[in-house]
Amino acid sequence: MKNKLSCYLMVIKSCVLLSLTACTGVTDQSARDRIAEKEDLTSKNITQQRAWPDLINLADFIEDKADRTAGTQLERQMAAWIAEQWTRQGHKVEHLPFNFELEEQALRSQNLYIDIQGQSDEIIVVGAHYDAVGIDTGSHGLIDNGSGVAALISLGELLKDKTLPFTVRLLAFGAEERGLLGAKNYVQRKDVKMHKTIGMINLDTIIGGDKLYVHSAHSTPYTCDFVTEPTYAHGVKLRDAIKKVSVELYPSSPHLLHPAVAGYPEGETGSWSDHSPFACSGIDIAYLEATNFAINGKNGFDGYSQVADEKYWDCFDENNSTACNREREKAWGEIWHTKFDRRSALFPHMQVRLQKQQEQNVHTLYVFLRNVPKYMEGK
Ligand SMILES: [Zn+2]
Repeated sequence: MKNKLSCYLMVIKSCVLLSLTACTGVTDQSARDRIAEKEDLTSKNITQQRAWPDLINLADFIEDKADRTAGTQLERQMAAWIAEQWTRQGHKVEHLPFNFELEEQALRSQNLYIDIQGQSDEIIVVGAHYDAVGIDTGSHGLIDNGSGVAALISLGELLKDKTLPFTVRLLAFGAEERGLLGAKNYVQRKDVKMHKTIGMINLDTIIGGDKLYVHSAHSTPYTCDFVTEPTYAHGVKLRDAIKKVSVELYPSSPHLLHPAVAGYPEGETGSWSDHSPFACSGIDIAYLEATNFAINGKNGFDGYSQVADEKYWDCFDENNSTACNREREKAWGEIWHTKFDRRSALFPHMQVRLQKQQEQNVHTLYVFLRNVPKYMEGK
């Protein structure tokens, strides 16, 4: 008992000193906890070193490539840039080109990915689309979806050479804004180990909105008619595991589940982004998104209005969290697909927020992907 006590005191002392040599074996659990704590601190620092600089790099690159819509030369340049970043990190990049038709035009795009081998061959996909909606909306696609792509670049660097319980596939999709064409093509390929894929995390517009959310697929199946043999999945374990990490690391501003809104039970999302072809293929998904479900937007509390900040509204009624005049409002606090989704419109007002959110997303994903069994029941 006495020995145990002194050992315990030594543990406390060694905790302060961050020395893990004392009492190993006797207090395995606390030693592991301390290793985890130390790891969390380190991981925060190293993720911070990457997350924001990677986003700035990307912002520089896309400044004159706003019109990188599906099938264009600029979309191809964006894909090449992503491949270049990953190659520089030492990864082998796989390119998966696909053809599609748009307004009777035959076009070509591609998905690209890297694998970071884990202890298991089973794969967790982390995906983000790299095309943009097009300059006629005024958008440069910085948050939608430069933020998701920058996170893929950061994770490529942060996870390489790390011990990972599962293989992580970082996957950049083409042609999302034209109907999830990249993701739809990917899930139907025979050469991408769909049978080994145990989860998909979709990163689409992960900064900019007032709050961070993580969603699961809707419990009512999406329309899956593009998949030859749909097997729908809407499990919540992946979503809840990511939420758990975020709560642990960022207790005052964690990723949230959106409240139940008309047609959408708590934490469940629609089929409008690259996660849905995966749900339609029997794979549980988690979808990270920055928005604000507490705003009464154009169509109610649907999370489409991202910010309760008058700068992004024609006129914002703060007391009622909606437009001063619902008939006349045009802006609706929406950043995605608008003139606000560019550096010049965002950085002067919310650079600090964008940085914090990007860092939190990357940090949360990093800790989760390194410790999947700890956070995900049954894995
Ligand atoms: Zn998007």
